[in-house]
Amino acid sequence: MTRILYVEDNDDNVFLLTMRFELLGGYEVLTAADGEAGCAMAAAETPDLILMDLDLPIVDGWEATRRLKADPATRAIPVIALTAHALTGAREKALEAGCDDFDTKPIDFDRLVERIERLLAKGGNEKD
Ligand code: MN
Repeated sequence: MTRILYVEDNDDNVFLLTMRFELLGGYEVLTAADGEAGCAMAAAETPDLILMDLDLPIVDGWEATRRLKADPATRAIPVIALTAHALTGAREKALEAGCDDFDTKPIDFDRLVERIERLLAKGGNEKD
C-alpha cells in the first residue's frame, strides 16, 4: 500500500483524486487543506509521497515544500507540485523550492500516477 499525502484546499479536487486512487487500488490517501497542516501531517505520518497544491492558505505550497525539505524528518519524502499556473517559470519556481517533480491542473490522472510510480521507482505491475 502506497501512502500519499495530498495537500489541497479545493474540496472538489480532494474528493475526485481520492476517489480515483481508491478505484485504482493500492493507494491510501491522506489529506490536508493548507500548507501548515500539510507539514504537520507529513511529519506525523511520513507518507511515501506528497502531492502539493501550490496555491494554499496559511502557508503556500512553495513555502510548505521548503519547510519539508529543510526538516531531516521529512526531506526524503518526494514532493510533486500541482498547479493550475501554466505560467512560464512556475515549474522552475517549484523545483527551486525543492519539489521533486511538477504537474499541471486539471490533473491527468494516468500521467500523475506515472510520475508517482517513477518517483517511487516502482514497476508497472503493482496496480492489481
Ligand atoms: Mn489551491
